[in-house]
Amino acid sequence: MRYIEPHAHMVSRVTDDYERMALAGCEAVCEPAFWAGFDRSSAAGFYDYFCQLTEYEPKRAAKFGLKHFCWLCINPKEAEDVKLAREVIALIPKFLERPNVLGIGEIGLNKNSRNELKVLEMQVDFAAWHNQLILVHTPHLEDKLKGTRLILDVLKNDKRIRPEHVIIDHVEEHTVGLVLDAGHWAGMTLYPETKCSPARAIDILETYGNERLWLNSACDWGVSDPLAVPKTALEMKKHGHLAAVIDKVIFQNPKTFLGQCPKFKI
Ligand SMILES: [Zn+2]
Repeated sequence: MRYIEPHAHMVSRVTDDYERMALAGCEAVCEPAFWAGFDRSSAAGFYDYFCQLTEYEPKRAAKFGLKHFCWLCINPKEAEDVKLAREVIALIPKFLERPNVLGIGEIGLNKNSRNELKVLEMQVDFAAWHNQLILVHTPHLEDKLKGTRLILDVLKNDKRIRPEHVIIDHVEEHTVGLVLDAGHWAGMTLYPETKCSPARAIDILETYGNERLWLNSACDWGVSDPLAVPKTALEMKKHGHLAAVIDKVIFQNPKTFLGQCPKFKI
């Protein structure tokens, strides 16, 4: 089995996780910028985080033959403070040309607040201006449908954004159709407790087909499983999915989307 982990927060994981992922067939891991589990007190905290994502983490992954890529942004959970968001966005240009940076993400909404929406628009504008791919985080539980609709409107209203350059992550049964119909890619996040279980993800694949969809673990500092993607692939095999179909979902699809950034080479 070979796969790409397109969404994992490796700064929160131990080195043994890199080894386990490599043993399971992982060929590349991609790390969107996200919340640290606590609010940073200043933009300087983000500067250090961006250095960690672009300098230190690729070296840690390389020890296990794994390529490490990342996405940069201020995440929606810390986007309530618009002044801080402006300061963080101003830091990004000096990191954009670094060899493992794929685009802007994970931007999006958390509580669907007015300030989060303003910061989302700022970052979509930034991505369009710099011709970057976009990775979007959608809110949890009851906020997800409304948040997904708001996000789709923001993307649609910016005529510079090409839908195929955007992946909307953490989709579920009630949002995946909206995302695919808008021409975007959709990511299913496999979490042990919330978000998608392997069984639900397989149902979604069987309902919507396997075009413009990918699977990720989004493993972070919380209850999560860095091997969720290969474990789901095994479940797909048990369901009778052909090896070529499994390879498309866990390897070819992320490779196609991410390959729109010339820096993504594996
Ligand atoms: Zn994430």
